[in-house]
Amino acid sequence: MSLASGHPYLAIPGPSVVPDEVLRAMHRGAPNIYEGELIEMTASLLPDLRRVARTSHHVAIYIANGHGAWEAALANTLAPGDAVMVLTTGRFGHGWAEMAASLGVVAEIIDFGKKSPIDPARVEDVLRADTDHRIKAVLATHVDTSTGILSDMKAVRAAIDAAGHPALLMADCIASLGCDRLEMDDWGIDVTVTASQKGLMTPPGLGFVFFNDRAAAVRANQERVSPYWDWTRRATPEIFYQYFCGTAPTHHLYGLRAALDLIHAEGIESVWARHDTLSRAIWAAADVWGRAGALSLNVADPVHRSRAVSSLSLPAPRATELRRWVEANAGVTLGIGLGMAECTDPAWHGYFRIGHMGHVNAHMVLGMLGAIEAGLVALDIPHEAGGVSAAARVISVG
Ligand SMILES: *Cc1c(COP(=O)(O)O)cnc(C)c1O
Repeated sequence: MSLASGHPYLAIPGPSVVPDEVLRAMHRGAPNIYEGELIEMTASLLPDLRRVARTSHHVAIYIANGHGAWEAALANTLAPGDAVMVLTTGRFGHGWAEMAASLGVVAEIIDFGKKSPIDPARVEDVLRADTDHRIKAVLATHVDTSTGILSDMKAVRAAIDAAGHPALLMADCIASLGCDRLEMDDWGIDVTVTASQKGLMTPPGLGFVFFNDRAAAVRANQERVSPYWDWTRRATPEIFYQYFCGTAPTHHLYGLRAALDLIHAEGIESVWARHDTLSRAIWAAADVWGRAGALSLNVADPVHRSRAVSSLSLPAPRATELRRWVEANAGVTLGIGLGMAECTDPAWHGYFRIGHMGHVNAHMVLGMLGAIEAGLVALDIPHEAGGVSAAARVISVG
């Protein structure tokens, strides 16, 4: 018998759970895009987006997923032949590097592996050696969604400054925004790239690039920028259609309005605190289960773990079996392992991820953990019992 009927929980690291408020806001007829409510409502999104990214600078919105936002950031700041340093801590950093390379940019990867965060000392060393400032930008993944690694962007900025290097700091905050603490201006991030479908709780389809005046000056010096990706008019439109270089993503904008209202009603600090407690509950459960058997969290030190996504492993093929069991029997969909092994390799079935980003609360996390514990029992996967109780203790303290 399956016990999956009822409200499902999509616990993958994006798209994340869409709140009913967002769905309701999107359920409407097409609005007039030439005048009226939509125009003012769109303008109201910009300050509220800035508040989430903690920046007083510019924001451009694209009808795009995260890959589109990646390309937008590159298209505005780099030309073929320019070099960038890409700091990778998992699959997503490599993806951004591949995109840069396909645009003719020389992408020099410093790979920190799949278990450790970016080491700022290495960044500083490489930049110090770049005496003729060939490297135009440092591309860093704040949270890598494949490994669950959180890196310290403020420390990367400090490394760039200590080397006396003028490179822009461009951060992929697609997974982290609205989940892990992010302080764009305070940390000295020049370009922040994000998208709608993770911490912003809105369906996939909106990409965002926040950029400061340093980055705007780099853009101004580019010989040629693809008109669609150009962020200039999008950030400072003279007429409404310039926000989106064409027809506005009308329904997504209403959804985003509702999502930003939820975030600001709760308060961004409280949103981060909620993600922190829920993450610690998940980690506490995993620690208990892992005391017997081989379940383990990918990142050993909690300081380097994201509060948006956790990456875990079990001896293959048990991770895939567990994922299938909880989906079929408990209505919880966990994330596949990504980038930890080739998908043709049997080892691929030894990894899974838990998305705990966005519209997620204590009962959802406890239910999801309970479903996993039931799956561990049902499948006879060696583990120590009591993970859910450990999580409940974390949640009881807050
Ligand atoms: C989700 C994600 C992306 C890719 O976003 P898409 O919307 O799938 O294009 C890139 N980087 C990170 C860190 C992500 O979490």
